[in-house]
Amino acid sequence: MPAFDSLMAVPITLAAIEAARARLAGQVVTTAMTDSPSLSALTGMPVHLKLEHRQTTGSFKLRGATNALAALSAAEQQRGVVAASTGNHGRALAHAARQLGIDAVICMSRLVPRNKVAAIASLGAEVRIVGDSQDDAQAEVERLVATAGLVMIPPFDHPAIIAGQGTLGLELLEQLPDVATILVPLSGGGLAGGIAAAVKARRPTTRIIGISMARGAAMQASLAAGQPVEVQEVPTLADSLGGGIGLDNRLTFALCQQLLDDVVLLTEDEIAAGIRHAYEHEREIVEGAGAVGIAALLAGKVELTGPTVAVLSGGNIDMALHRRIVCAGMMWPGERSA
Ligand SMILES: *Cc1c(COP(=O)(O)O)cnc(C)c1O
Repeated sequence: MPAFDSLMAVPITLAAIEAARARLAGQVVTTAMTDSPSLSALTGMPVHLKLEHRQTTGSFKLRGATNALAALSAAEQQRGVVAASTGNHGRALAHAARQLGIDAVICMSRLVPRNKVAAIASLGAEVRIVGDSQDDAQAEVERLVATAGLVMIPPFDHPAIIAGQGTLGLELLEQLPDVATILVPLSGGGLAGGIAAAVKARRPTTRIIGISMARGAAMQASLAAGQPVEVQEVPTLADSLGGGIGLDNRLTFALCQQLLDDVVLLTEDEIAAGIRHAYEHEREIVEGAGAVGIAALLAGKVELTGPTVAVLSGGNIDMALHRRIVCAGMMWPGERSA
C-alpha cells in the first residue's frame, strides 16, 4: 500500500497554495476571525473562530471550486464542468462557474429534496436529475465526461481543490500568527489536508486536529486501517461530513496520514450542543459540520497548548432543523430513538 513516511514530499506544495491565493483574489471573501470569550473562559486558553460559514455560498468549498476552475486550460473551460454533489461542493461549483463564464452541470438523483435542487439551479448551473441514488448520479457524470467531454471536478481528491482550501490556512495564519492548534472539520480531507499543507509549511509546530462525527467517519477509519476503507454511511447532523474518501484515493489520505496530529470523533448530542452554543453564545448560525470544532471544545475532547482556532466551515443548515436543535429536547435526524 502507498503509505507515506515523513521522508516523502507532501503532495501539495506551499507554492501551489500561494498560486491559488493569487487566483482567488477578488473571487472569495477574506472571512473574519473573532475571539470567543465563552470558549476562552471554558478552556482557559485564547480560543478564536474562523467565520468561514460566512463565505459566499455558505462554505469554504468556494475556495477549492474557484481555484480548480480558474486553473483549467481555456479549452477545458470551453467544454464545461460536471459534478454529482447536492451539497456545498455543488453550490460552490455552480457559483464559481457562473463567475468565470463556464457551463456547469450538476447531476443528482430523484430523491434529492426540491429545495436543494432549487438552490443549485438558482446559481445558474444546469441540474440533471437521474436515477434513484448518488451512484446513479455519479454514473451520469462519468457518461457526460465520456460522451460530451465535460471536465469532472471532484469535491476533495484533486490538487487544485486541496490547494484552494489551503488558502484558508494561509489566511488564518496571517490573522493569528502564533496559533498553536487548529480544529478542522474532516470528511474527505480536502480542507484539513489543504490547511495542514499550508500551515505546516510556514509554522511546523502548529497542531492540526481533524474532527468528524463518530458514525461513518471514513477518513478516521482509513487512517486507523492504514489504507482507504469503506464505511457505512448513516444519517448525521454533520451531513456535510458524510460519504467515503474513495478506495482509489490519490492525495487526501496521504496528506492526512502525514500531516494531521490527531482525529477526534463526536456523538450526535455533542454536535447538537456545538450548533446550540454557536447560536446562543457566538450569535452564529452554523451547520452541523461547521460546529464540530466548537463541539469538541465543549466536550473537552482536545487538549489545548496555546491559542486555538476552530474553523466554522459552513452554515447551510435547514432552518427548521436549526430551530429544533436550539430549542432543546426535540428530535433531530440521527438522534437515538427512545
Ligand atoms: C465539505 C465540507 C467539509 C469537509 O471537507 P472535506 O474537504 O471533505 O474534508 C466540512 N464542512 C463543510 C461545511 C463542508 O461542506
